[in-house]
Amino acid sequence: QLLHELLELKGNIRVFCRVRPLTLEENIGGLGFVFGPVVALDTSDLLLELGNNKSKRYTFDKVFHGSSQDGVFSEVEPVIKSVLDGYNACIFAYGQTGTGKTFTMEGTLESPGIMPRTIETLFKQTEDSNHTFLITFSMLEIYLGNLRDLLVPQATRSTDPLPPCLSIQTDPKGGIGIENLVSIQVSNFNQALKLYRFGCQLRSTASTNSNTTSSRSHCMIRISITCFDAPERRRETNKIWLVDLGGSERVVKTKAWGRRLDEGRAINLSLSALGDVIHALQRRKCHIPYRNSKLTRVLKDSLGDDSKTLMLVHVSPKEEDLCETICSLNFAARVK
Ligand code: ADP
Ligand code: MG
Repeated sequence: QLLHELLELKGNIRVFCRVRPLTLEENIGGLGFVFGPVVALDTSDLLLELGNNKSKRYTFDKVFHGSSQDGVFSEVEPVIKSVLDGYNACIFAYGQTGTGKTFTMEGTLESPGIMPRTIETLFKQTEDSNHTFLITFSMLEIYLGNLRDLLVPQATRSTDPLPPCLSIQTDPKGGIGIENLVSIQVSNFNQALKLYRFGCQLRSTASTNSNTTSSRSHCMIRISITCFDAPERRRETNKIWLVDLGGSERVVKTKAWGRRLDEGRAINLSLSALGDVIHALQRRKCHIPYRNSKLTRVLKDSLGDDSKTLMLVHVSPKEEDLCETICSLNFAARVK
């Protein structure tokens, strides 16, 4: 217990790694995992086989290899509950397209992921408490450097197949606001879940209608909680951001052109800006480069100082994805 508390003092940024299992088609013969290049040594170390008898070891705060959604969520839950103790928090899913970011964050109806489980946990906690809370929900995506609201109903929108663009505003005190971002007060789990599903649906129809790929945008939900009857110093609003990041694969390799190339570049730029911010926070630099991307500007007051950050880096178990796996693990090593 004491050791646990000491470790807690270590800092507010955690990096986990989740290795996607092989799909049924990939696992013909059933031996895929044994021969894959990614080997879990224990619950915090991965060994990456690079060929020619070379390998590299990566250490994380936690490694998930063959873990269930329950198993992952139980490790993530403390970060979520910290929002009720007065912290802001951010949870990110990072990785190449197809490595399970959306599975981890959204999940499926049968195995829900971190987003619906967070909503459930927060409502359970506030309902069990004898304080009164105000909870609001927002959902947006960042696509090609534009912020789009995912809670704006279809009927109020123009012929543009994409939701309306939002702009970021800085107040004189350096605080950040997103102009006109819809923020809906929710009073129970089902209401919040309905909004969340509405946003997910809008995201996928918008990307189909405009011939874009949702894997090239960042999808973000924000849950804000204010406790009315807490002691004075705790009466502020705290929030948690849950972010399904755009795919981290490099554009050169995907032989993209035109719009796809622009999408790839926009994602790569914002992911490296995010890496720079977390790297600078970890090393307690005095200048934190929040201004280099919309993603980091939006998250400014929830990333750093007194906030909890959790980065879940996703990798593929497959040999053919080795290059991207190395890139993702190096990104993870840099933010640790
Ligand atoms: P990403 O969002 O990173 O592009 P997805 O979440 O869409 O990746 O995952 C790609 C495919 O792999 C999906 O069919 C998903 O259901 C499956 N998948 C990913 N991770 C897991 C997992 N941990 N367990 C079972 N299936 C998974
Ligand atoms: Mg996805």
